Amino acid sequence: MTEQVPPAGTPDLAPQQGTSSGVAARAAAAGRQPAATATTRTAGGSGPSGRGVSSRGTVSPRVDTVADVIVVGAGPAGSSVGFHLATAGLDVLVLEKTSFPREKVCGDGLTPRAVKALAAMGVPFTGEGWQRHRGLRIIGGGGRIELDWPDLSSYPGYGLVRARTDFDQLLARHAEKAGARVLEGVNVDGPVLDDRNGRIVGVSTKDGQQYRAPLVVAADGNSSRLSVAMGLHKRDDRPMGVAVRTYYTSPRHDDEYLEAWLDLWDGSSLLPGYGWIFGMGDGTSNVGLGLLNTSSGFGDIDYRVMLRKWLATMPPEWGFQEENRTQPIRGAALPMGFNRTPHYTRGLLLAGDAGGMVNPFNGEGIAYALESGELAARVITQALARPTAAARERVLQTYPRQLKDAYGGYYTLGRVFVELIGKPSFMQFATKHGVKRPAIMRFTMKLLGNLTETRGGDAVDRLINAVSKMTPAA
Ligand SMILES: Cc1cc2nc3c(=O)[nH]c(=O)nc-3n(C[C@H](O)[C@H](O)[C@H](O)COP(=O)(O)OP(=O)(O)OC[C@H]3O[C@@H](n4cnc5c(N)ncnc54)[C@H](O)[C@@H]3O)c2cc1C
Repeated sequence: MTEQVPPAGTPDLAPQQGTSSGVAARAAAAGRQPAATATTRTAGGSGPSGRGVSSRGTVSPRVDTVADVIVVGAGPAGSSVGFHLATAGLDVLVLEKTSFPREKVCGDGLTPRAVKALAAMGVPFTGEGWQRHRGLRIIGGGGRIELDWPDLSSYPGYGLVRARTDFDQLLARHAEKAGARVLEGVNVDGPVLDDRNGRIVGVSTKDGQQYRAPLVVAADGNSSRLSVAMGLHKRDDRPMGVAVRTYYTSPRHDDEYLEAWLDLWDGSSLLPGYGWIFGMGDGTSNVGLGLLNTSSGFGDIDYRVMLRKWLATMPPEWGFQEENRTQPIRGAALPMGFNRTPHYTRGLLLAGDAGGMVNPFNGEGIAYALESGELAARVITQALARPTAAARERVLQTYPRQLKDAYGGYYTLGRVFVELIGKPSFMQFATKHGVKRPAIMRFTMKLLGNLTETRGGDAVDRLINAVSKMTPAA
């Protein structure tokens, strides 16, 4: 959607962060009253008046539709951006099309990398609903090995499992507590563009509302309709995964290890991917499998059938039978290795799955959504503190560069890895000879989990870091 936008009052006015006078100044610059309330959760049914109807059916105070930054999507990426921007004193509006709690198809596994990002946000992650685990159990090629997460100063030595139904809600509430305005039931259907320069200056919603801000973050997941509307399409030279999952009541619900099975067969071909069993700690296990698009039969595989076949090989006492299934089998795509670029264009930054940031080595996306959300927030905070449009733009342009510095070389290696394991003979060789060798598996765990000391570390850390740095980021 393109719309003529009245010239902004003072385009070079930088926000004065963290002060109520800053909020007032920004509001005045935008020609509006400062927000009457900081948070209005549910905007379902809000019309052009900007009035929202709360989940209790009562009319809430007027929703302020202008902000310093708009974030589209309140998954882990969006809540991370919202949290970090609000903490920096900016007025951030997070628009989420669903209402919490809501389902999100996921394995629910949080590696030490994700735990570190949660700790950086001060998210409380002990107590009910959090299942702690100490490592990974890998089964394949006739071998079985248990590996504890590496003992590093850079990352905690444990991971967590938490159902996305309330994990995402908890993150959104955490961002709200920090001062972000999170509106649920707001379905964004396109950008509002400045006709003079094509920059995004806000978003429109399905119910005819408009929200405005000089910067917008697309954190709307794999499909990222907002990015597409801004001309940013998926790259087909990047790997893509597809995964399905469901839940079963199982005695294995409190397993101390995440379990990964490498034996996924299509006839006589070993497929590039793995099946997982993650104990939820609530009487159920999250069970699923994911495959990469580098296998020849990728498009023809019936994932539900494959999941059932794989589970039929499990000991019956684990309970993975139809009568114990508590949820439907659902699937979704995993966009990997920067499959949508550039990550910044004309006032729009991409975070998390919207920017294709799932790790191609292991299919993990939550940590990268949280981290890229923080990075986007840091860049925006610095940009908005600059006095001129040109200076702000210079800072914003560093976002794709900083992402490449952080993950580019590693993701390039990941692309080589997924090509290799897409060859059944290689996958078979690696599984057969790797799983039985602890030293190889400890190396593999650090490489696949992107878990090395950021500085120093042991020989394995230094090797992985050096190769990632030397590999060109693309
Ligand atoms: C089967 C499966 C298993 C997985 N298992 C794991 C795992 O165990 N561990 C792990 O780390 N990763 C896992 N992943 C990947 C992980 O789920 C994603 O990488 C992660 O959710 C990305 O977070 P995000 O915030 O970028 O996007 P999302 O979590 O997709 O959030 C996007 C948000 O934007 C909202 N939205 C979308 N469109 C609009 C719109 N138009 N207007 C307003 N809001 C909108 C959505 O409702 C959603 O809340 C798995 C993925 C799949 C498919």
